[in-house]
This record gives sequence, C-alpha cells and structure tokens, in this order.
Amino acid sequence: MQLYDTARRAVVPFEPGDDVLMYTCGITPYDSTHLGHAATFIAYDVLQRRLIDRGHTVTCVRNVTDVDDPLFAKARELGIHYLDLAAGEEARFERDMEALNALPVASTPRASSAIPDIRGFIGMVIDRGHAYEAGGSVYFDVSTFPSFGTLSHHTEEEMLALAAERGGQVDDPNKRNPLDFVLWHPSASDEPSWDTLWGAGRPGWHIECSALALRELGTTIDLHGGGADLIFPHHECERAQSEAATGESFVTHWMHTALISMDGEKMSKSRGNLVFVDRLREEWDPRAIRLGIVEHHYRTEWEWDDELMPRNRDRLDAWRANAGSNPGLLADVRARLDDDLDTPGAVELVDAAAASGHGTREASELLGVDLD
Ligand code: ZN
Repeated sequence: MQLYDTARRAVVPFEPGDDVLMYTCGITPYDSTHLGHAATFIAYDVLQRRLIDRGHTVTCVRNVTDVDDPLFAKARELGIHYLDLAAGEEARFERDMEALNALPVASTPRASSAIPDIRGFIGMVIDRGHAYEAGGSVYFDVSTFPSFGTLSHHTEEEMLALAAERGGQVDDPNKRNPLDFVLWHPSASDEPSWDTLWGAGRPGWHIECSALALRELGTTIDLHGGGADLIFPHHECERAQSEAATGESFVTHWMHTALISMDGEKMSKSRGNLVFVDRLREEWDPRAIRLGIVEHHYRTEWEWDDELMPRNRDRLDAWRANAGSNPGLLADVRARLDDDLDTPGAVELVDAAAASGHGTREASELLGVDLD
C-alpha cells in the first residue's frame, strides 16, 4: 500500500507491522461535528478498514481535547462547567460518527485525564535540556532541536506568521525565541489549574497529544493523522517535543486531510460557514453523507455544494439496487485504496458496476457503506 507522507512530500510505501499504531488528533468538544471534521475521521476510517481487510490489527487512538481555550470560552458563555459541556458534545460527536458507520477506535483518551502523564512528559523534556522555565511557564527551546520545521517544510518567516495567526503568542516576552512554544502555563482565574513542580497552571496546546501517544502507543507510532491545518504549529511541535523527550523517532508516516470550503472559504468555526453532520442527518440517509465524503480524495480541498446530497442519495439508491456479490470489483477497489487511498477512483468503479447492473456489495462495504 502507498500513502502520501507529509514529511517526505511524496507518495511512499506504507509498510507497518501486523499491529498498526495510529494516532489521530480528535475534537475539542464545544460544538457540533461539522462536515470538515467528519471528512477527516472518515478518511482514517477507510484506511483502518482497508488495513483490517489486509489482515492487520489497528490500534487507533483519537484524543479528546477537553482542556482548551475555546471550550472554556463556550462554557463561560453558557454558564456551565467545561467538563459537562465537553461530555455532552463528545457524546454528540460519537453519535455522528456511529451514524456515519465509523469503526470504533481503540481509545479516546481525554486531556483532563492525562495531567499526570503530561507532568511526567514535561519532566522528560526538561531533563534532556530541551525546555526552560520563565514567568511561571515552561517553554520548549526550539534552538535545541535543529530539525524544527522539517515536517511542515516552512521557512522561519512562514512559521512565525502561522504561529502568530494560530495562537502561538510569538510576542510573549518570556520566550527566548518567538517560535518557542508553551508546554505548561498559568491558568486564568476561572480556568482549571493543576499543581506542578514549576507552578500551578494547565498544559499548553500541543503537549497532550505527545503525552497521550506515548502513554497509549509507545515511543514510535506508524501513522499520525489530523487535518492539514494541524501540520503547523501543532504537529511540528508535537514531533519536536516527543523526539526531544524520548530520543526516538516519533512518527513513521504523517497523513493529513485537506480542508473543505463553503462559499469560497475554508469551513471553520471562526468563520461560521459550517455544515453540521447532525443537521444533515435530519434530512438525509447517513450513508449518502458518507458517500458525499468519500467521493472526494482526502488530500484534495473541495467545496460544499447543494447538489452533493441529492447526487449521493441517487448513488446510494443505484448501489443498493445492485447489491449482489462481485469479487472482481472488490479486487479493483482494493487496488484503488492501496494507491494513496483513492476513494474517488473506488467510487467511480462502483458507480460503473452499478450502472451496468453488476454487484456492488463487498466493494461498498469496504468503503464503509452497508447496503442492507
Ligand atoms: Zn494533536
């Protein structure tokens, strides 16, 4: 099987051992699941299905970021405890993923459960000389990690611009270098706070994923996923602190999913141009929603349009009307998926089989669409 690797910038063989260790950055549970999230997790679900089909077992960890600024802000606005808000939104997300027929993942650990792991992890980074304390915070010292930037392939200027845009607080006067990033920092008065040797506070944005990946999967994982907007700074920082803490390679293969647009702009909570999965489910068969996702390639940005759902309702009807067995089609679809998870190519093959009255069953199931 071949997959594009963000770090190597090429489609390369993906050859994990029998048990595939996978980590995908999960949700911050403060609002409904939008189509962009769903597309990300469905891409990893198709991958997981094909790996299982190839005879692997897959241990996939998908964290829940329940200690984070937007969650605190929403909880404040609603006047409820942040963990109550998180629990409710996490349950909604799980219902959406189940409706979209996503396989269960091995674990969905929460940041709030990982504080002891995070404390230990920060201790490892400090002990190895890659972090420093200043003003009640602990910062990762990027000057000690020369390969910083080699995952995202950005220049220093580009990294600075992106860090400034994505909450990296580049003008924090306690930092030795504006690209240094926070591992631990003091909490605001109405935010949760935990004691540590270097002061009370809460974890920085990136550290939870490194600590959870190490706790749940060990030092080196086969594949790390997430939306393309996480490549920098989130994954660049994760990689740096993990390799700094353990001295081992963190990730063998980085796989990122493209963002979805609506009205010409990337779908995002800050812009408010979102299509929510639970709203779509009120009107459409969730299998048609899933087809509307997999008809696009995970690495290609695409734009929501009002024809998406009717088109995929018709597609689902055609596939269901030709639900017989067809092992030949299954072999062809497997080959498409093994070529950088070419789901649009696979969908086209199933469409053609259905159009000529041939069976679609096994191929459809491999894409996660049950025809019964
Ligand atoms: Zn993450």
